Amino acid sequence: MTPIEKLEPGQVRISGYEYDDAGNASGPGPLETLTLGELDGTLPHGFVRGPELVRSYRFNAPKMGLRRKIGELRQKPKIAGSLGRLTAYVLALALESIGGEPMPKQREKAALLVAGLTVGDVFALSMDWRRVCAPRGIKFEDGSCGHCGSGWSSVRINLDTVGVRALPADATAADSPRARVGLYDGIPFGEGTVQTVVVKPPTWLDFLWGVHGEAQNNKTLLRARTLGAAICATDIEVGGRPIQRLPLQALDELMPDDEALLDETISRIVPTPEMVVEVDCPDCGQKNVVPMDPWNNPGFFGG
Ligand SMILES: [Zn+2]
Repeated sequence: MTPIEKLEPGQVRISGYEYDDAGNASGPGPLETLTLGELDGTLPHGFVRGPELVRSYRFNAPKMGLRRKIGELRQKPKIAGSLGRLTAYVLALALESIGGEPMPKQREKAALLVAGLTVGDVFALSMDWRRVCAPRGIKFEDGSCGHCGSGWSSVRINLDTVGVRALPADATAADSPRARVGLYDGIPFGEGTVQTVVVKPPTWLDFLWGVHGEAQNNKTLLRARTLGAAICATDIEVGGRPIQRLPLQALDELMPDDEALLDETISRIVPTPEMVVEVDCPDCGQKNVVPMDPWNNPGFFGG
């Protein structure tokens, strides 16, 4: 392992697929749109197993007994205290198999398998499971119309309208996106300064697994964890050893320009569900766009 090749400040090189703001992919093939609500599904990104990019999964039937078991996870403080852990444990129970292989019997093992998926894949799985459990749509609480101001007490949201951008069906392990980024200011580390980094789509384990309680609402901390999780190689050595991962404290040195550049680049290589849905106001009939991200929707996961 040698340090990676340097880029000029502000330069970004992407390999594999890339996404624009509208969620359109560019690469060797066209964008796939995933259908939610079936027991069999496709991960937007997937993970590499041998030469293969594994993307298929299957949910268990959403019977009441299973949903009760999932609801009981909320009573376990060690699991429910962390949104990241709760999400992984919920999906571990909800899933029957990933990539054709049954989920591990041991619960912790199954949850860790889910947590090894990319953040975008876990969001997509969570959204899909909600859709499977709520074929008539979910009830939206505490919302109000942005046009007429009327409060909504009984609006149902049909999750079919959630867009999930995904790698094309024939994508291979080599298409799994990576980006090399030349930083403007760089990150002081050891005796030197990191000028160029490689970023990959971060996993749920790196990003949220260890975040508890109040920290879940700390957007700066979550962003730092995302960036830290995404960086997988750098252009420096310390004591003759190439540095691949940077500790969270090193990222405290990030200047806003570099933070924005890294953030933008990560969003270009991460296939994620479009976390908004369109809702017609029952009173005035106008369309509203409602954010569906978990931080604005307590109880988003585990339903
Ligand atoms: Zn209205």
